[in-house]
Amino acid sequence: MSGSVLAVDIGGTKFAVALVDSDGNVRAARRAATPPGGDARALWKALGELVDSLLDGAAADGLIDGDTAAGGVVDGVGIGCGGPMTWPEGAVSPLNMPGWRGFPLRAKLAERFPGVPVRIHNDAVCLAVAEHWRGAGRGSANMLGMVVSTGVGGGLILGDRLIDGGSGNAGHIGHIVVDPEGPPCGCGGRGCLEAIARGPGLAAWAVEQGWHPGAGSAYVETALAGSAYVEAAAASGRQLALDAEAGDQIALAAMRRAGRALGLAIASATNLCDLDVVTIGGGLSQAGPLLFDPLEAALRDHIRMEFARRVRVVPASLGQDAGLVGAAALILAADRYWTH
Ligand SMILES: [Zn+2]
Repeated sequence: MSGSVLAVDIGGTKFAVALVDSDGNVRAARRAATPPGGDARALWKALGELVDSLLDGAAADGLIDGDTAAGGVVDGVGIGCGGPMTWPEGAVSPLNMPGWRGFPLRAKLAERFPGVPVRIHNDAVCLAVAEHWRGAGRGSANMLGMVVSTGVGGGLILGDRLIDGGSGNAGHIGHIVVDPEGPPCGCGGRGCLEAIARGPGLAAWAVEQGWHPGAGSAYVETALAGSAYVEAAAASGRQLALDAEAGDQIALAAMRRAGRALGLAIASATNLCDLDVVTIGGGLSQAGPLLFDPLEAALRDHIRMEFARRVRVVPASLGQDAGLVGAAALILAADRYWTH
């Protein structure tokens, strides 16, 4: 027993792997760009090399001992991956990774690490779990963890436990309808929160209104380039946030549009689930009050019942390690975050 679990975070722009200790601290991590256009084999090979590099480095540093080719070198493996997937079996078909369609990611990692639990969940669920376990939602029994990025995702914790739903898909806040006459959504519906507030959707709306990305601030490019792991896909939302901060009127209007849509969706979720706290992560959340003020205004307009008014909406606090910490929690805090 090593006292550490292997956490795996699979995204369309990067793979990240880490050793996480029982307190939720990332002891060692490796990241690499997702092979662009990679087929199933190339993607699996890239992930395998990243894991080997992590474990070899950790063994050399004395963080783990023994033969790193053996399964028992970690206490378990937690995986976060973009959906859809079969769950809890873990055959994955991430929307933005065409190379994996029905790829048995969980089973393949279980083969590589025999004799220890290997568990998987939606990446947005892992982010919510991380914020509940070690982040901005710590200490709250009833929480919705949201991420506003390329898409709008979430995870739901009620009574101090992760809620999976019938197929592992509970928490899909992005597809709450906030405007029945709104834009079409990738899910096939119309007027979902995601259709309005996802970074690229909001950027497209802003461009339609005449927005020129970056025009309002000279430091935008520097700020983007200086951040170690800017998700290319989230950059449009982040750029909008930066431009809004610099006073760009259209970017400000976009923040109001997103904030209002988020506030409406959160009001519905709060009334339905009797929430204590909602955490919001992702590029757009960096806009601070420019996003959160219109969000609060819409939310307070629509939660009128006494019980619902206590809800707090706060920025996520864990940053780029959140996905890894949440994946690790599927093993390390299984009493709260794993039901199977
Ligand atoms: Zn939708």
